[in-house]
Amino acid sequence: MIYGWGRTVKRFLCFGLIGAALLTLIPLVRAQDQCGVTMGISFPVDRASFTLVQAFGVPSPRHQGRYHTGEDYHGPRGASLGQPVRAAASGLVTYSAPNGWGRDGGVVIIQHVFADGTTVYSQYGHMMETSTILFPARYSCVNQGDIIGAVGDIRPAPHLHFEIRTNQPDVPGAGYTWNPPLTLGWLQPSRFILNMNVRQNPAFRWQVELPEPLTAPPLVLSDGSLLALSGERLRGITPDGRVLWRLALPETGVGLALDGGLPVITYSSGAAQVATANGQLGETRTAPAPVVSGDPFTLADGRRYALDGGTQVLTAFNADGSTRWQTPLEVDSGDGQVAQLGDHLLLVTRGGDVLALHDATGARCGGLRLYAGRGGVFGVQVGADGVVRVALNDQITGVDGQTLLGGCAS
Ligand SMILES: [Zn+2]
Repeated sequence: MIYGWGRTVKRFLCFGLIGAALLTLIPLVRAQDQCGVTMGISFPVDRASFTLVQAFGVPSPRHQGRYHTGEDYHGPRGASLGQPVRAAASGLVTYSAPNGWGRDGGVVIIQHVFADGTTVYSQYGHMMETSTILFPARYSCVNQGDIIGAVGDIRPAPHLHFEIRTNQPDVPGAGYTWNPPLTLGWLQPSRFILNMNVRQNPAFRWQVELPEPLTAPPLVLSDGSLLALSGERLRGITPDGRVLWRLALPETGVGLALDGGLPVITYSSGAAQVATANGQLGETRTAPAPVVSGDPFTLADGRRYALDGGTQVLTAFNADGSTRWQTPLEVDSGDGQVAQLGDHLLLVTRGGDVLALHDATGARCGGLRLYAGRGGVFGVQVGADGVVRVALNDQITGVDGQTLLGGCAS
């Protein structure tokens, strides 16, 4: 048996050498064959010091109104040039050229294959090499966080152009397209990074990305299914996050509430109409009284909290108004909501933070960060099934509360 194994190993090594030779001939091998499965994904520059200066998908007057296919990041004023750029995730380098964009700088492209089969390419543009920072070799494997280049000296000011896409595996994109890039295989980088990380979190259950933003918080029905209102569209969503049906409404819906046990849509005209759980429109009614929502920082039992968006400090109060505890948190917004999760406190912010805290001390013991987009509808609902449903603009995410509390035992 030992000899058999030895022969197998020899054969394996032999194929390995042939394989390595083939790699130089066949540019596109499946990345996981060589570089393993991609686990985490992060931003290529430190977002504490780098800012997003041009967003994804916006038309650029400097480029004949064409759409931007990536996100541009630059560092503190005058300090971007030469800053290190890191691989967003592990993967196979499919393109690497310091002159890839000519005088617009160098380009690196990396292929990433996630455990669920999702395959994307990250592209880093406007980069340069320095005396200490070299581009990775084409067809080499890189790890998440490896330095793969430096921010180059380009017009109008040094910055990194960063893309996530499913097309053009090994050729640099032009950075702009005549049609909206989402329709052509490009993805919004920050959204992809945050959502992909959430998907790797054990507490993640499901996520619905809607083609249009919500115009009211989703309505949770008794079986855990959801009704989601987006202007002139009403969708029925199963308890595990699949869109089951879609209904065109006669006018724009602005509100969704239970009235006498039935879901009722309020239209912008002030009229209202019953919708059934299986996607039919029913009788018209006078609009139900608007739901008076309580203070989002007071629990049902009267415990009160306050979140300061500036100092990012969460304060818990005693019944007499004195401070019970204060805890500093890294949150993106002071706009949020608290909920009770077993013996623990759940804080969800409009910035996408979903945090589990010890209610006795305020110590953080679990959490994740959703992509939040800008503005729009925000809603949190903790179901009887223990699933925390967070609605943020055009996305609804289901997170298992007990799993989120995994680090809170003690
Ligand atoms: Zn750009």
